[in-house]
Amino acid sequence: MIDSFKHKGLRKQLIDLLRHKGIRDERVLQAMESLPRHYFFDSSFHSFAYDDKPFPIGAGQTISQPYTVAFQTELLDVNKGDKILEIGTGSGYQACILAQMGARVYSIERIKSLYLKAKAFVPTVGCTHVKCFYGDGYKGLPAYAPFSKILITAAAPYIPDALIQQLTVGGILVVPLGSADVQVMTRVTKTQEGAYRTEDHGYFRFVPLLENKEDDHGNH
Ligand code: SAM
Repeated sequence: MIDSFKHKGLRKQLIDLLRHKGIRDERVLQAMESLPRHYFFDSSFHSFAYDDKPFPIGAGQTISQPYTVAFQTELLDVNKGDKILEIGTGSGYQACILAQMGARVYSIERIKSLYLKAKAFVPTVGCTHVKCFYGDGYKGLPAYAPFSKILITAAAPYIPDALIQQLTVGGILVVPLGSADVQVMTRVTKTQEGAYRTEDHGYFRFVPLLENKEDDHGNH
């Protein structure tokens, strides 16, 4: 994989655009400037990697728009040493951004082909602190809990209780919450065991958070 001057230049322009759109967290902007997004695209589509748009990654899924990645990551207030659960690995890009910021990342994907691809690919771009899991994000990863932060990168109709339970007190969960058509970006802060408060941060549109792994047909 080559990170050419052209790609570096396009990335710099994208970071300027994110700043212009209101992203202020320098930790986020630095991580997005240092990690080449085109590495997460097939080589024939490299020219699309620095548009501020989502892009298909196969299996009907997308790598999120850079602005959305930056916005969710900023809301998560990522600190070095955070232990973060991501729901929806997809391409692995968001997980690598979190790892680039010094977090230890546990990421779950429900589509096996995407899980296998990300698990094999992520270490090749130097993201050694990302662990990939094949599973249903609604259930989280109880064996690895608690997490200081949880990031859901698909549209959830409700906040899964299992995930709130797996969050530390004082921890933050970010989720696009709502119907299939439109969601409200919601930041949840766990205030004590069994209690949390929420804040709304505008409208977004994500692919849906679906129940069960893809091969669990009818196995409820
Ligand atoms: N974070 C990804 C990236 O950086 O490329 C983009 C995520 S994409 C917008 C949403 C992902 O969530 C899809 O790959 C989808 O298969 C996955 N997903 C949907 N429901 C899920 C669930 N219940 N558990 C785990 N992953 C799920």
